[in-house]
Amino acid sequence: MSPLKVFNTLTGKKEDFHSITPGKVVLYACGPTVYDVSHLGHARMALTFDVIQRYLRFSGYDVTFVRNITDIDDKIINRAKELHQLPEQVARQYTYSFWRDMHDLNAASPDIEPRATQYIQAMINFAEELIKKGYAYESGGDVYFDVASFSEYGKLKKQSLDDLLQGAREQVRSQDELKELKKNPVDFALWKSASPGDTGWQSPWGWGRPGWHLECSSMIKHVLGETIDIHGGGEDLVFPHHENELAQSEALHGKPLARYWLHNSFVQVEAEKMSKSLGNFRTIQSILEQYSADAIRFFVLQTHYRSPIEFCGESMDAAKSGTLRLIRAARMAVDDANGDGTAEEPDEGSDAVLQKLDSDFREAMDDDFNTPRATAALFGLADTIFATTDETLATRYAGALKKYAGVLGFTLTDTAKIIDSSTGSGLVDVLLNLREHARANKDYKQSDMIRDELAKLGIKVMDVKGAKAGWERA
Ligand SMILES: [Zn+2]
Repeated sequence: MSPLKVFNTLTGKKEDFHSITPGKVVLYACGPTVYDVSHLGHARMALTFDVIQRYLRFSGYDVTFVRNITDIDDKIINRAKELHQLPEQVARQYTYSFWRDMHDLNAASPDIEPRATQYIQAMINFAEELIKKGYAYESGGDVYFDVASFSEYGKLKKQSLDDLLQGAREQVRSQDELKELKKNPVDFALWKSASPGDTGWQSPWGWGRPGWHLECSSMIKHVLGETIDIHGGGEDLVFPHHENELAQSEALHGKPLARYWLHNSFVQVEAEKMSKSLGNFRTIQSILEQYSADAIRFFVLQTHYRSPIEFCGESMDAAKSGTLRLIRAARMAVDDANGDGTAEEPDEGSDAVLQKLDSDFREAMDDDFNTPRATAALFGLADTIFATTDETLATRYAGALKKYAGVLGFTLTDTAKIIDSSTGSGLVDVLLNLREHARANKDYKQSDMIRDELAKLGIKVMDVKGAKAGWERA
């Protein structure tokens, strides 16, 4: 039995984790709707599921991690109108920017990344089957899920249909207009009609486009199957998005959509929920200008994924110095001494310090991915490294630190040793001035040495008569 326990939103309890197929985990996390740049809230969700899939792999599971791209949505269409562009141009641009953010944050790529527009026919079929089974109805070119036909509706949010009726809202069109189309105000659109000139696809109900919730249900069914192990996302997705995905899929298949539903909490900025609408939008790239990917990751992981995070400069600075402490401790590690990929894996077997690290780390992560405790174990090891006078031992511990930090997605890249391009060209100028000085003193041995050493680094020095020497990359 796997010792892993996860908190399941569906049952409201921490449960033992048992995957459908022993040794394999199928994980689907809702991806971005690509109409704008990503902010820290998106980063938190991406890092949460990045760490979860990394740890599952480390625990020996064969993981299939799927994260979709919602590349058709009213938000994308509205943005395209604002920008006088086509919706697919907007979607492509922000897909690239999302990929760049994920790359820069060292969030691993999903194994499969379906785009909604690739599955339109599957979505149409899905809606047709729901109509056939009596769970959905066509109305004025739209198709709605008949919430009253699915007795378990509200089970993820844990609210009765009556309670939900009170809070029913529709973002896209006015309630008055929808009142005439829907049987019940909580009914949600599987398919929305569109004007002939608007982005859409031909369907049995005329020109239109799919509803957001149907996109994920259809992609899960087609890419992964009817029941998956883990369905994840931010807690703002519990209702209505995941509730509706669950209703559609379980109504159609008569079996659970996911065994475990995992949701991460949000990021607050000065006690307000971070979202663009509240005007406290911090983009991932703007944060990356000031902090490394490791510092952002540490900032996120020092809080358990189900607790809210307060974003402020001081806690980011604290995360930065914490990360630097790990990097300094890891400097002792020899990545690959032979340079041939045969670096030795640290062996926990006989060493009490490493055995304790391994058990503390796994115990923390097996307890619903308790990253604050897992990172504390890494800091404990860093303290040991600083206190160790035996160099061989320190090197071994530093190797272990890199290995376990890597499970959490830290690179521990020694940023102190990375020189940006303006510093680099400044250094070349310093050397050329020294060479100039040597030449003026007729010390040609010295000036030639500088030229030759620079050439070895791929920098070609070009002497110009009567002027300062220039240089270029060879
Ligand atoms: Zn989704």
